[in-house]
Amino acid sequence: MDTPEQRIQIAVQKTGRLTEHSIDLLERCGLMVTKSKDRLICYGENMPIDLLLVRDDDIPGLVSEDVCDLGIVGLNIVEEKRLNLESEGREGLFKQIYELDFGHCRLALAAPETTEYAGPESLENKRIATSYVGIVRKYLKDNDINAETVYFSGAVEIAPKLGRADYICDLVSTGSTLKANGLTEVDVLMDSEAVVIQTQAPLGNEKQALVDKILQRLDGVLQVRESKYIMLHAPRSALAKIRDLLPGSEAPTVLPLDGTDDKVAVHAVCRENVFWETLENLKAAGASSLLVLPVEKMLA
Ligand code: ATP
Ligand code: ZN
Repeated sequence: MDTPEQRIQIAVQKTGRLTEHSIDLLERCGLMVTKSKDRLICYGENMPIDLLLVRDDDIPGLVSEDVCDLGIVGLNIVEEKRLNLESEGREGLFKQIYELDFGHCRLALAAPETTEYAGPESLENKRIATSYVGIVRKYLKDNDINAETVYFSGAVEIAPKLGRADYICDLVSTGSTLKANGLTEVDVLMDSEAVVIQTQAPLGNEKQALVDKILQRLDGVLQVRESKYIMLHAPRSALAKIRDLLPGSEAPTVLPLDGTDDKVAVHAVCRENVFWETLENLKAAGASSLLVLPVEKMLA
């Protein structure tokens, strides 16, 4: 008897700052989806993978409850959900797999420009407006501070003007929203970026193999983002120095060059960006015919 096809569900933000990057990343992993912004589900056309388009706040819960196998969401949301579950005596059944190097922001504490802030002790007996009550409460507890958290689901930055709070704690990337509201950043509670989370529920062999495959491809996509393939010619005597100068590379391939005994070709994958300065240093060390190429795909 045929078993029904096992499909992986990946939760991604429906509309927001993470949407485009999340889908782009999965497309780089080879997934083609039927795109329709009004749909809750985008079906994978060439792989048994479907995307569930939801609010970012719902993603850790969907993964924890095994509705979705994987999710792409900000670390800020993951941490808040974990603390909320913990306060109810429950545990988040998801594990964090990769940091994705997009959606960078920080959860910052800010106050009206006239406020004098001298460290966490300045928060004693104050009111802090935030959507991140769990994270703020943990911060206050860790610093042994008594302060009140005032929950705002959005537009947190207007709380001081409304007389509802002395401080706010919200996500910041450039700081322009704070400035526009007469607020100054005084402290950072956490740095955040988008991450992949995976359910801790057992998936069964077939599904687990699919999840492993997509995670391996994701790993490859993340690795090649900064990676470059570098080729150069060098005198044998300069090899040790050149090896040291190649940024983030493993053992390079050294090939003989036709018609010469003392010169070789060196090929290496550098897992960091290769800057002009590096090329100039390599040249100064004796390298010539330097070529830097982007890496399209990588499978370790
Ligand atoms: P949703 O409707 O899905 O609940 P949202 O309004 O909560 O959307 P966005 O504003 O799209 O969410 O932000 C999604 C995520 O983007 C944040 O949780 C955070 O991880 C990240 N992010 C990066 N920079 C910022 C920023 N400046 N402000 C807010 N979030 C940011
Ligand atoms: Zn949200």
